[in-house]
Order: sequence, then C-alpha cells, then structure tokens
Amino acid sequence: MQTRSIEETAADVAALPASPAIHSQGLVKRYGSIVALDGLSMTVPRGEVFGFLGPNGAGKTTAVKLLVGLTRPSGGEGWVLGAPIGDREARRRIGYLPELFRYQDWLEAREVLSLHCELAGIPRRRRAAEIAEALDLVGLTDRAGDRVGTFSKGMQQRLGLGVALLGGPELVLLDEPTSALDPVGRHDVRELIRTLRARGTTVFLNSHMLTEVEQVCDRVAVVDRGQVIALGTMDELRGADTLLRLRLGRVSEAALEALHRAGALDVEADGYTLRGVGRDAVPGLVAQLVGLGCEVYAVEPRGQSLEDRFLELLGGNDAGADNRAPHHS
Ligand code: ATP
Repeated sequence: MQTRSIEETAADVAALPASPAIHSQGLVKRYGSIVALDGLSMTVPRGEVFGFLGPNGAGKTTAVKLLVGLTRPSGGEGWVLGAPIGDREARRRIGYLPELFRYQDWLEAREVLSLHCELAGIPRRRRAAEIAEALDLVGLTDRAGDRVGTFSKGMQQRLGLGVALLGGPELVLLDEPTSALDPVGRHDVRELIRTLRARGTTVFLNSHMLTEVEQVCDRVAVVDRGQVIALGTMDELRGADTLLRLRLGRVSEAALEALHRAGALDVEADGYTLRGVGRDAVPGLVAQLVGLGCEVYAVEPRGQSLEDRFLELLGGNDAGADNRAPHHS
C-alpha cells in the first residue's frame, strides 16, 4: 500500500476547493497513562455551527487545545483551515475562548482587548475599530473603561468572547462559552453565534448543555471517552426521520394491519407511535389509511428528546463499565 506523508496529505486538504474548517483523523492525546482522546475523527465544513457535546472528562477541552495548537497530539493527524494543526499562520485566523481563564484584574476591558490585538498581530491602525466592534458584539461597550477585577463572572466570559472575535476569525472555538452566564447572557451568546453564522464564520462549540447545542448547532458530534460516538444533525441524532406520532379517529381492521405492515406500532391511550417509517413514506401511508376508511387527525414526526438520545448513547457506550472515569492505556 502506498503511504503518504503528513505534508502530502496536508497539501491535498489545502488544495480542496474549500478545505474543511476542521478535519481530524485518529487524533490521540495521552496524559501519562490517561487517554484523553482516543482516535478522534471528524470533519467540520466551513460555515457550520458545530456542537461538540459530551459529559465531563469526555475530552472536549483536550480536542480544542489540540485544534488550536496549545498542546501536541500523541498520535493521529488534524487540519484546521487547510493547515496542519499548530500552524502559526492558520492560528491567526482562529478565535478561541478557553474554558477557564482569568485576565489581570487591574486591566480595563479595553486594555485586555488591546493586548490581544497586539498578540494576534492585528495592525495598529485597525485596532480601535476591532476593539469597538468586539465590545459591541458582546455587549460591553459601556464597560470598556472598567477594570476586569470589577466584572462579574458573566461579564468576564463576555470579555473572553470579545477577545475570541478580534480580527474577524474564520473559525471560532468556544469552550463552554455560557457556563457563567445567566439566561439573558445565554440568549445573547446564542444570538451572537447566529450572527457569526450569518457572516460565514465556522463555530465549534464545546458544551455539555444539551439545550444550548440543540438551539444553535447545525450538526453535533457526541463525544465520550475521547471518541466520537455519534455525529449528525439534530433530527438525525434524535431519529426524527423515523418516528411518527399519529392521532387517528375511527381505525378499521384493514387500517390497523396497514400500520403494522408500515413499521413497529405502539398503541397508546392518546394515540399511536410508529417507528421505522422514513419521511418520504409518510404521504403514501396517510393516503392508504384514508383509503381504508381511517380518520386521520394528526401525523407528526417525533424524535426522542436530545437528552434521551444522549443518555441512550452514553449508556450504550458503557460497555459494562459503571462510571465515566477516564480510561487508562
Ligand atoms: P469537562 O466537561 O469536565 O470540561 P472535557 O470533556 O473538556 O471535560 P478534558 O478536560 O478534555 O474533558 O479531559 C479529558 C480527560 O483528560 C480527563 O480524564 C482529564 O482528567 C484528562 N486530562 C485533561 N488534561 C489533563 C492534563 N493536563 N493532565 C492530565 N490529565 C488531563
């Protein structure tokens, strides 16, 4: 078999018409005997809001640190914006909000942003405009001259988001961006992510908050013990394509037989649940039921809640283990 060097593969990825924002193949990260990432493979196309969802200790922060180039993989390969992970030029086009961070208490918000403009190599003439835009995006314009030490945790998190957005990055990686925010702040972050999406920015969102991911992400990877165990749109993950709730009036014997033939039928007090029917088959099934004299009041695609699906996935991934402790090599 012909083997290819990392440089050759990187050149291939960069040469794609629009190289994906993120592409990883079998990324491994070990900390001593702890395996934090165990062969992480995924692709995030440009312009997508991608949720990286997993329980505590699943490897989310480790993955982001590798993608940003803050730590080096123990194995595998990864590309970000067409460049191998850790590439300094690509790093300038990436925004990053770390999970746990603290800016110097004595600096004003504006000074923190100014410092990061300098670190990011943003030209001096553009800095004032960049800082003003970042403050506006995260709702801190009125507090620009206040010291970080006087900020609440939520305001510090907003400032961190402002730092991540300096210079108009093509890809923004947010590690638990709303952990310190109140409901209004969470709503604001969702709106901000939508604004970024509208601008074509790719957003990689680390979270263990299902509702947050559910409301804002185009696609989600569920990660557990350092591996992606499911990946897809919300509908795909919840199985909304294949589960129907039916409210029917009079149901003839023939209609009931047709339902049984169509999929796995549960008859409940308030209606019927039918599993295994693809979306495309729904109109034909309704026509058939009506033709058989059935009164059809409602037909709704109904997946599991993301939470149920999430717990089911993690349960299925337990493989006999009774807790989610990190595994050792
Ligand atoms: P959380 O939701 O709690 O932030 P996470 O999904 O971000 O969790 P990571 O922080 O990536 O998880 O940690 C994955 C595993 O790697 C954990 O078992 C953690 O203890 C371990 N780990 C992470 N960083 C280090 C480190 N610097 N040294 C040793 N072990 C580490």
